[in-house]
Amino acid sequence: MSVTLKTDEEIGLMRVACKNLAKLHEELKDLIRPGITTLEIDRRAEEIITSMGCTPNFKGYEGFPASVCVSVNDEVVHGIPSAERILQDGDIVSLDSGMIYKGWHSDGARTWGVGNISGEAKELIRITEECFYKGIEKARPGNHLYEISAAIGEWATSHGYGVVRDLVGHGIGRSMHEDPDIYNYPQEDEGIRLEPGMTLAIEPMIAAGSGAVEWDKKDGWTVRTVDHSLCAHYENTILITEDEPEILSL
Ligand code: MG
Repeated sequence: MSVTLKTDEEIGLMRVACKNLAKLHEELKDLIRPGITTLEIDRRAEEIITSMGCTPNFKGYEGFPASVCVSVNDEVVHGIPSAERILQDGDIVSLDSGMIYKGWHSDGARTWGVGNISGEAKELIRITEECFYKGIEKARPGNHLYEISAAIGEWATSHGYGVVRDLVGHGIGRSMHEDPDIYNYPQEDEGIRLEPGMTLAIEPMIAAGSGAVEWDKKDGWTVRTVDHSLCAHYENTILITEDEPEILSL
């Protein structure tokens, strides 16, 4: 495993990719309504990313056909935008996207409600976001990586939710996915020591049910909960500093 530490100059470039991603998510949020297709969201995302002077990093990644993953209800991640997929009142939708600026990557996800959603769905979205914040409370130099993992997983399970174990967060920088893998549940060992200059994509994926998932056999991409329970996803690219972590993609 090789975990890279970024220089101030490199972090500056990542900061641009990440701030633009935050703006992208704010703009996409305003599009979410019953009746919009997931393809329309993707088209707009690509226009915005390009207009920012950036390149979508999802598009073409291992053949993924779009600039944003749009995952609805029991879909956890990697939903492929489609003209046939129309968002309905009461759905929850996760948008996961990222971009490259001068060779440096950003990655981040949000989950939104479509129209009026149930109290249960709202609570799942809220706790998933809280899991991220519980995780990054531990993202300080001198702590170990899996303290983040444990904090995320324990917050989810203490609310009766299931953690998606088959998907993980990751280091990020010159590539979208770098070492280390960042689990969303406690590990037996403590993991690497965190150091200033590490950039990490921390991304709890939390299900109302067990958290067990399966990949769509036809498209090979879409990941769904096996029990078809709702799933939420919240992700930011963060920087380990000398003290508090900096959330780059907010
Ligand atoms: Mg990610």
